[in-house]
Amino acid sequence: MITMDDIVREGNPILTKTAEEVSLPPTEEETETLKEMLQFLKNSQDEKIAEQYKLRAGVGLAAPQIGISKRMVAVHFEDFDGKQYSYGLFNPRIVSHSVEKAYLSTGEGCLSVDREVPGYVPRYARITVKATDLEGNPVKLRLRGYAAIVFQHEIDHLNGIMFYDYINPANPFEAPENSRPIE
Ligand SMILES: [Zn+2]
Repeated sequence: MITMDDIVREGNPILTKTAEEVSLPPTEEETETLKEMLQFLKNSQDEKIAEQYKLRAGVGLAAPQIGISKRMVAVHFEDFDGKQYSYGLFNPRIVSHSVEKAYLSTGEGCLSVDREVPGYVPRYARITVKATDLEGNPVKLRLRGYAAIVFQHEIDHLNGIMFYDYINPANPFEAPENSRPIE
């Protein structure tokens, strides 16, 4: 199973690299890795397992974060209106997005970042994501609010981008232009 020992931390160059497209259909090993990434997120949100294995709770994980530079992400969370998202995705991409921006009023965190980085992270308020799921099916997701933020954070990891790259260093808590807070 994946534990915190497997999680690559900031400073490792794999986190600033563009990850490779997965050629489809994925290999058995790639599918197995992606299933394990999803299981890690579930474990990290299970109080008992998380305590036993000292897992930090996470809602998303990208393959570069476990040292694999391939375009695979897992997400497991409930949106603020109670909708459940649980996916392992190959080659996820944002095919369209709103002009309007949004940001989490609490800022963002990352399993690869062992410190608080305060500040607003401007994101698109709405995105459409296309990908291939663990069963090999094409998926198309229309996302808004918290879900849109989580997916953008994870897909950024495939492009070598960290959440704090977007924070305005001069004024971290200035609301981004044309944006609304998500709280
Ligand atoms: Zn992250």
